[in-house]
Amino acid sequence: MDIESLRRDTPGCAHKAHLNNAGAALMSRRTLDAVTSHLELEATIGGYEAAAAAHDRIEHTYDALVGLIGADRDEIAFTENATRAWDMAFYGLRFAPGDRILTARAEYASNAIAFLQTARRHGVSVETVPDDEHGQLDVEALRAMTDERVRLIAVTHVPTQSGLVNPAAEIGKVAREFGVTYLLDACQSVGQLPVDVAEIGCDLLTATGRKFLRGPRGTGFLYASRRLTERLEPPFLDLHAATWTGPDAYEVRPDARRFETWETFYAGKIGLGVAVDTALALGPDAIERRVTTLAARLREGLAALPGVHVHDRGLRLSGIVSFTVDGHDSPAVADLLRSRDVNVSVSHATSAQWDLGARGLPTVVRASVHYYNTEEELSRLLDALPLPTV
Ligand SMILES: *Cc1c(COP(=O)(O)O)cnc(C)c1O
Repeated sequence: MDIESLRRDTPGCAHKAHLNNAGAALMSRRTLDAVTSHLELEATIGGYEAAAAAHDRIEHTYDALVGLIGADRDEIAFTENATRAWDMAFYGLRFAPGDRILTARAEYASNAIAFLQTARRHGVSVETVPDDEHGQLDVEALRAMTDERVRLIAVTHVPTQSGLVNPAAEIGKVAREFGVTYLLDACQSVGQLPVDVAEIGCDLLTATGRKFLRGPRGTGFLYASRRLTERLEPPFLDLHAATWTGPDAYEVRPDARRFETWETFYAGKIGLGVAVDTALALGPDAIERRVTTLAARLREGLAALPGVHVHDRGLRLSGIVSFTVDGHDSPAVADLLRSRDVNVSVSHATSAQWDLGARGLPTVVRASVHYYNTEEELSRLLDALPLPTV
């Protein structure tokens, strides 16, 4: 990987040590140009006319995503974010009293809230699978917990708040063994490590554009396997998802675009395709190697500082690094780093009650690296710490 050239093609690299890639990574110049030029075209010739003129570029986004995650073209829906993609899948499932949902300790807040709402509405039980001794979801415990009442296994691959990578493919094997629907939240994994839906064995997968994929904000996608799409009725339908065929009749479209809406962010959709092309050109394996190497350096550097604690657990680690500093609350640490042109963010227990909350961590500082970050940028963060105790 030619880091210098990748940095030159990333305008944001000139300004900040951007270690908030799990929040939103920096767009490349190519992606930015693809978005702005489509907006210019809309302003110049009209939005509908621009969509017609850019038809191939818009449709290319599906091909790019197919190349990235290994699905078929008709199994991809473009959405405005990962949450909408996840909700369209989850709220399309039918639950009955006594059904069980199995999920992970590190589950994302929005997913957990949806589970809890469904538990209240439909009398479903929501159960978290314990972690193993490494801190990842315990696959044997999952196998032991699974029975014919389990309606859904829903797991976050890489959580928002720590460096964990859950064993997605091993979970997939259990789901297949028992014939249980498997929904994977791959929001933080897609773009930083290889994700292949056939290898993982999930029925549904969701991701966002702006995080490790480096796409524009306001973009996301859903993978819905053909097998499941036929049985899954979207919670919302419009005239793109379905056709009004007669005074009292409509037909839902057969492909995954039944989960889309007619109106969409075309410039962002084109930009997402360009961002995915870039990830494919670099190669997800090479990206993971670079990202995990940088993250390991950062964890090592942090762990060597007095009063600094790294909180990442798991057998396999991602580019997300979570830590706390004794005597300083995490938002203050993030503010100080921001004042030194180092972008990080803060994860709160309200984002991960079953993980941070259960571990007694009200907040952690989250530094998340991407391949375009440098050792010098990591040093900039490390040199600012530890902070004098007040
Ligand atoms: C960010 C995130 C989401 C939500 O993605 P949006 O695009 O903001 O809707 C879901 N799950 C995880 C694990 C995330 O980190």
